[in-house]
Amino acid sequence: MRAELLGFKIDTFNFENAVDYAKTISGQVVTINPEMMSNPDMIEIVNSAELVIPDGIGVELGLLVFGRNVRRIPGIQFAHRMIEECAKDGKTVALVGAKPEIIEKACENLKKEFEELNIVYSQDGYFNDDDRVLSELKENNPRLVLCALGSPKQELFIIKAKKLMPETLFIGVGGSFDVWSGVVERAPEIYQKLGLEWLYRTIKEPQRFKRIFPALPLFMLKVLRDRFVPKGV
Ligand code: UDP
Repeated sequence: MRAELLGFKIDTFNFENAVDYAKTISGQVVTINPEMMSNPDMIEIVNSAELVIPDGIGVELGLLVFGRNVRRIPGIQFAHRMIEECAKDGKTVALVGAKPEIIEKACENLKKEFEELNIVYSQDGYFNDDDRVLSELKENNPRLVLCALGSPKQELFIIKAKKLMPETLFIGVGGSFDVWSGVVERAPEIYQKLGLEWLYRTIKEPQRFKRIFPALPLFMLKVLRDRFVPKGV
């Protein structure tokens, strides 16, 4: 089932059902957040995805304004679980994105965590030749590709890639490799539980403030306007 928020279609699965569903499909998973939703160009991209999961408290609150009680699914946790499922099922995985030393460390840590994990391809996110990376990916034909290029770069890359690899599931994972590498910490659990991970990251990395901070309140204002102000006013 899907809900709609500011023109974006969002799936309303809980975490376990989203995992079960993702295991049966191929194509694109978008982990949507208010920052992404501030860009109207993203509507078409998001609405063409095979699965859209609400990543973050902003999207959860926005849906609540429209009477939809949907729990957020942190994208990083979802992607981590999908890796675990691939390891268990003997399915292959590829990682594309982040700085070279980061992706190397992230792969190393994941392999330590999941002994059975089969990473068939990894590529840092600072390449100029999309065609080279796409053809290398296609050659390896992994079941799962995690793509950490930031938004909308990762979504645009995935749109190209999914046309070439009809049996692969792609997830855009933003800054997840930085966390898995151990270089950037996830917020303490209390922030995660309260949905305030964005606040913690903003305090730790003040340069994010300019980007993230206006996005949330502006997003909530847009949602409230869309819900309560008659169209055309
Ligand atoms: N990144 C990349 N190539 C680029 C730009 C960014 O691989 O051309 C990586 C960057 O190193 C980081 C990730 O994309 O690991 C996501 O960055 P950010 O934290 O800005 O994304 P967010 O999670 O906020 O969408």
